[in-house]
Amino acid sequence: MHCPNCGNEAPLDQKFCRRCGFNLAPVGDLMRTDDAAAAAVKLDRAKREALMVRHMFRWMAWGMGVLGIGVLMIVADKAFDFGNALKFVTALVMLGGIAMATYGVMSAMLKRDAGKWKVPAEDKHELQAPTTRQLAGGAVPAPVPSVTERTTELIGNRPSPKTD
Ligand SMILES: [Zn+2]
Repeated sequence: MHCPNCGNEAPLDQKFCRRCGFNLAPVGDLMRTDDAAAAAVKLDRAKREALMVRHMFRWMAWGMGVLGIGVLMIVADKAFDFGNALKFVTALVMLGGIAMATYGVMSAMLKRDAGKWKVPAEDKHELQAPTTRQLAGGAVPAPVPSVTERTTELIGNRPSPKTD
């Protein structure tokens, strides 16, 4: 870091500026707290991302399962010719499966873009233990880098509505 008084370079753990004697302890504390807060935020985001992916794949798996049932119904219809009623139900089931898989992907993406992904209660304790300690004392968390980069990295060429 640099001394706020004279601009002289000083290591983070130095208590006083070697050139002007300015008290550097509060500055060093603040910067270390910011680093810790940034690390906690990063952990929080990694955790949320993992939850989001789990949620997405769970819904996709259910959707695929329902679609599979629809395919079985088509096969059954071909074999036994149950008529138009079954064809209609089959179409509904398959549409439902597609809707479920789509919901999994869409909700995950929308919530992540909005930064509103909620951590379930059972994961919250584990997550907040370090966060609470490091943010104690009303420290303001360091500015979080945009999620856009990570989103782009994960979804490839999907155009982002954000322009930051
Ligand atoms: Zn100084």
